[in-house]
Amino acid sequence: MNKPLPNSIAAMDAAHQIHPHTNLRRHLETGPNELLVRGQGIQVFDETGKGYIEGAAALWCSSLGFGNERLAEVAKQAITDLGYYHNFRGSGTPQAAQLCSKLADIAPEGMDKVLLQSSGTEANDTALKLVWYYWDAMGEPKRRKIISRHEGYHGTGTLTSCLTGKTKFHEGYGLPFSDFHYVTMPYYYRKAEPGESEQQFSTRLAEEIEALILREGPETIAAFWAEPVLGSGGAITPPEGYFEKVQAVLDKYGVLFVVDEVICGFARTGEMWGSQTYNLKPDLICCAKALSAAVIPISAVIVGPRVFEGMMQQSDRRGSFTHGYTYSGHPVACAVAHEVLTIYEEMDLVTHVKSLEPTFLAGFKALEDHPLVGNIDGIGLIGALEIVADKDTRAMHDPALQIMPMLDRLTREHGLITRLIGNRIALAPPQIITQPEVEEMFARLKNALDNAVNNIN
Ligand code: PLP
Repeated sequence: MNKPLPNSIAAMDAAHQIHPHTNLRRHLETGPNELLVRGQGIQVFDETGKGYIEGAAALWCSSLGFGNERLAEVAKQAITDLGYYHNFRGSGTPQAAQLCSKLADIAPEGMDKVLLQSSGTEANDTALKLVWYYWDAMGEPKRRKIISRHEGYHGTGTLTSCLTGKTKFHEGYGLPFSDFHYVTMPYYYRKAEPGESEQQFSTRLAEEIEALILREGPETIAAFWAEPVLGSGGAITPPEGYFEKVQAVLDKYGVLFVVDEVICGFARTGEMWGSQTYNLKPDLICCAKALSAAVIPISAVIVGPRVFEGMMQQSDRRGSFTHGYTYSGHPVACAVAHEVLTIYEEMDLVTHVKSLEPTFLAGFKALEDHPLVGNIDGIGLIGALEIVADKDTRAMHDPALQIMPMLDRLTREHGLITRLIGNRIALAPPQIITQPEVEEMFARLKNALDNAVNNIN
């Protein structure tokens, strides 16, 4: 990567922008990898005009693709009409009311209360407060402990970093706090014992959760936290029977279930909610990203009746529900999100994703025998393949080979952006993708994999 030209945008960026998940010292030297300046449909274009299929919908979020004029018009109207108002102390805007009502219509049955937030992290952080608030209302304030999974991702705020089961988000920050416990991720390919079936693996993982609950004392366990499909953990689908067995343990000990649908919500897994795909019984759902097709920051916690009852008792006791942000229920974001949900209705999002799922999964299947591919995984429009050096032993490549950065470069050369997670290449394209576009996306991926084989040999 070259040093940016003096006085260029890249030079401004290098000098002044602190980028998340980026080596800061190297960035001062090199500036941004690329500057993306426009988008259309499922493609984004850099400043040289080169187009890329965004195979990961940016950060799993651009469900309607890029450059959407209809949403721009809605935002413009909402800014022109009012621009901003809050929802504190009972104040309202039509935009927030209409969004909450529409979200309640599509939420899993029985969940019809919506608490608006601005990001996935905020939604998870708020859900955590609600869990503790609930148990306090129930007269069980000792129920503070949270169980989440290794490699689960729930945000990078102070408390949400603790929910997140990735140690790199803890290191250097003195986290996690003591009430957070982690259990094995449901990653059958790498975590199952030799000869263990998916069902046996799921039983073992559910037993691990039960053993943890008993060890810590059921009277101290507040909630279990999970994404239906592990997103940033590798686009990993749960093994057969996993959630059924986990749900039974949670029910046995009265533990709340918070389902993080920040990636899985809005048909990513083929049903409107991952909770429906896997038959979960959430007490709280966190959603964000595709709620507004990511064109404007907004998220929500969808609250089920059990927790809402606790919240009402608290607000009776204390006079009001003491939680909220300036931008919760921002009318411009609400107007855009409402329009996004209307577009989902018009395009019959769930049917559309279901109709594409066979082509999407066939794309992975066709790569299963590729010499670099050890494992394929997917559901709906989210999936991944795992790069290995040896298909039999599942050994990974020598780090010196830098196979994943090589694959990133090669896929980009072929006009495809993917999401790399460890040695997995994840795909979660915008939900508006068409069948020919799915096929084109996999053709580009195959070309990159073939080039990598040639480079290695
Ligand atoms: N939860 C999940 C499952 C996510 O994938 C993410 C972000 O990728 C978050 C929470 C955090 O969302 P945000 O980055 O909007 O704070």
